[in-house]
Amino acid sequence: MSESSLRVVWVYPDLLSTYGDRGNALVVERRARQRNIAVTRIDVRSDQAVPTSGDIYLIGGGEDRPQRLAAERLRQDSGLTRASENGAIIFSVCAGYQILGHEFINDLGEREPGLGLLDVWSTRGEGARNVGDVLADVDPRLGLPQLTGFENHQGITHLGQGVSPLATVSVGGGNGTGDGTEGAWRDTVFGTYLHGPVMARNPAVADMLIKLALDVGALPPVDTTWYDALRAERIAASRQPA
Ligand code: GLN
Repeated sequence: MSESSLRVVWVYPDLLSTYGDRGNALVVERRARQRNIAVTRIDVRSDQAVPTSGDIYLIGGGEDRPQRLAAERLRQDSGLTRASENGAIIFSVCAGYQILGHEFINDLGEREPGLGLLDVWSTRGEGARNVGDVLADVDPRLGLPQLTGFENHQGITHLGQGVSPLATVSVGGGNGTGDGTEGAWRDTVFGTYLHGPVMARNPAVADMLIKLALDVGALPPVDTTWYDALRAERIAASRQPA
């Protein structure tokens, strides 16, 4: 860790924070504090520079136009790219995930360059949007329990050789490629289509980011009663036929 306190950077809350993605910042912050880890949360609006000294960067989902504006601004700013080059941990959701890739289709129907921090690229699905609850089994190397989340996207994300799928869906569309993959990851950079917010439904994901930031293999256990209740409810709901 670069500072005595864990620095959690929430990128562009004014443009990218749909379906409660703010909750990801709150949950990471809370799970760290519960372990007596000092946390500084830095909310970076789109008219501000992205600091390069963060430990964990969170970037959320967004509608098509804010997504284009965010991509333009992040390309100009280059702070997130430099942070990534320095080994920062980045967790991205939906529009944020697409922005981390090589390109996506913007609100004008044009190919918009992303940041190229993940070897993925996104096209626009011709059919119905992928909308609804998702259940997915995570890449076993990450040692995480089943993921539950909510997706709502038109984009379809294709994975290159430089990433692995984050998970495999048993319910929902995930990357939308029809091969059952959901999200992508490499080293300390993660992308997912899951809102929910994903950290509230899957606190083990927040813990994974904290462990990576601290370079530790385990954290002291903390109470998960409310998270477990939410997980049980959403997992049961996602198994119901629509
Ligand atoms: N605008 C993007 C899409 O529809 C991302 C949507 C989102 O972030 N929920 O694919």
